[in-house]
Formats: sequence, C-alpha cells, structure tokens
Amino acid sequence: MYYGSIEAGGTKFVCAVGRDNGEIITSTQMNTERPEKTMPQVLDFFRQYQLKSIGIGSFGPIDIATQSYTYGHITSTPKLDWRDYPLVQTIQSALDVPISFNTDVNAAALGEATLGAARGLDSCLYITVGTGIGAGAVVRGQVLQGLSHPEMGHILIRRHPDDDYQGNCPYHKDCLEGLAAGPAIEKRWGKKGMDLSDRPEVWELEAYYIAQALVQYAMILSPKKMILGGGVMKQFQLFPLIRSKFQELLNGYFDFPEVTDQIDEYIVSPGLGDQAGITGGLVLAKQVAGRPYKSAE
Ligand code: ADP
Ligand code: ZN
Repeated sequence: MYYGSIEAGGTKFVCAVGRDNGEIITSTQMNTERPEKTMPQVLDFFRQYQLKSIGIGSFGPIDIATQSYTYGHITSTPKLDWRDYPLVQTIQSALDVPISFNTDVNAAALGEATLGAARGLDSCLYITVGTGIGAGAVVRGQVLQGLSHPEMGHILIRRHPDDDYQGNCPYHKDCLEGLAAGPAIEKRWGKKGMDLSDRPEVWELEAYYIAQALVQYAMILSPKKMILGGGVMKQFQLFPLIRSKFQELLNGYFDFPEVTDQIDEYIVSPGLGDQAGITGGLVLAKQVAGRPYKSAE
C-alpha cells in the first residue's frame, strides 16, 4: 500500500503515489481549470492505487482548522471557480481514505525538514517566491498552525527609498508579496524575472525585500534553517545578495555561528528541488495513515 500526495497549485495540480521515505512511484499533473474539470482527473488517477492515506499541500487561503464548519475548503481565493470549494470532502467521499490537509508551503517545509535541506533538524522555514509569496514553518517537528495557517507573504516591510512601484497586493498593496513576488517584478521593471537576469539593480532590490522578511521570520521563529524556493529563486545570484543583506540588517544581533560563519548553509535552496511540496504531501499522508476519520457524507 502506498501513500498519495497532491500539490494543488493555482496553475497545476501535481498528484503522486509513493512511499513514506519520499520515493515517488508515479506521478501526473493536470492544469488547474474549473474544479468540475480538474477534480475528476485527480480522482481517476488515485483510483488506480490502493492508498493508506493522502496528504494535500494546497494553494490558499484554505481552512485547516479541523473543528471548523468549512474545514477542508479552499476559502477566499482570487481564483473564483475554486472559492469555497470543499477539496478534502470531494476527495474523501470518492476515495474513502484519511486525508491530511495543509498549505503548499507548510507541506514543502515538512518535506524539507523530513527528507530535504533541513533533514535531522526539528525546525525550519520554507518560503516560496513565485506568483505569490508564502512561507511555512516546522517547529519542534510539527507544521506551525494557529488560528489557521500563517500568511507570512503578507507581512509589512520597509520600502526602499528609491522604489516608487506602488505594489500589487489586492489587500495591502505594498506588503512583501505586493512588492517582491514575480508579478511585482514584472510590473516594476516591464519584463518577466527570467528576462532580467543581467540587471543587477533588479536583484539588489529583490534581495533588500526578501532579506527583511527573513530577518522577521528569524526574529519571531528562530528557525534552524531557512529554505528559499519558487520560480524567482531560480535567479541564484539572489542567494549571496540575500545572505549579506540579512547579516547587514541583523547587524550582529542574532549572533549564532549558523548566521555569522555558516550563512551559506543557513539560507539555502530546497534540498528536494521542485519536489519539496509533493514529498511533503507524502509525509503529511503518513501522519494520518490508519487514523480514524469521519467519512464525508
Ligand atoms: P507558482 O508560484 O505559480 O507556483 P513559480 O514558483 O514558478 O510558480 O512562480 C512563477 C513566478 O516566478 C512568475 O512570476 C515568473 O515570472 C517567476 N519566475 C519563474 N521562473 C523564473 C526565473 N527563472 N527567474 C525569475 N523569475 C522567474
Ligand atoms: Zn498582502
């Protein structure tokens, strides 16, 4: 028997079947269209296998509070077809297995903590800088959850004095995501990030914002490692810029060897590459395998 994993993204769903050591036996992906189009494909894929459980890392916002009336739903997403969609209930009523439901970045953080760059550590932070910005954290081996999942992409940061781009978060305008996600880069500079590799000022500014976010995460969560993924982080020249800005902003305050001497191993790329989320889904699945659960009506 295998575990199932779903990385539910705004542009595509990745579905995988694998083992709890992170080994993926088979996987497939489908475009994120309307739920009525995408979900039957997801269910047909998993129906081919005998599964112990399924772990889902989803785009959000989502309701992960198990006592909540709308637990398992994608909630106020700007993707209108998916707003208030009961993702967990749909899968559970079709496949009848326990499901663990969390955010895409929490799944990735758990994958990295268990089998990736933070393997052997009981805490880490995972941030994705892509179409949006989101971060998940593992604390004492568990994904961090409060009222709901954290929304670390929407923190408020200090604007660069030379940056007159207004920001494009529909809620906050110039929050971190509004100033530093892929679409903000494109709107500010008039080209997509991947076509701006040779413009140092683009990445200096990007590092200025991301480093501020990492300082806040470090001050609040004190993670043992920070892992930076997502499309924008494919600009690997960002890493040294972010590391030195991070140290400059801390100004000697967070005085640990990890930060002062081994920063190259403290702020890193995902050890699992683009598989962090889907691997994390397998780890989530394992956590709920064999647990009693309420069958969806
Ligand atoms: P998503 O966030 O939708 O899951 P990605 O993590 O690939 O997907 O992020 C997509 C965003 O990242 C887009 O805004 C895109 O322009 C930007 N991006 C993708 N690849 C690169 C790259 N190599 N360099 C800079 N920006 C990139
Ligand atoms: Zn925001």
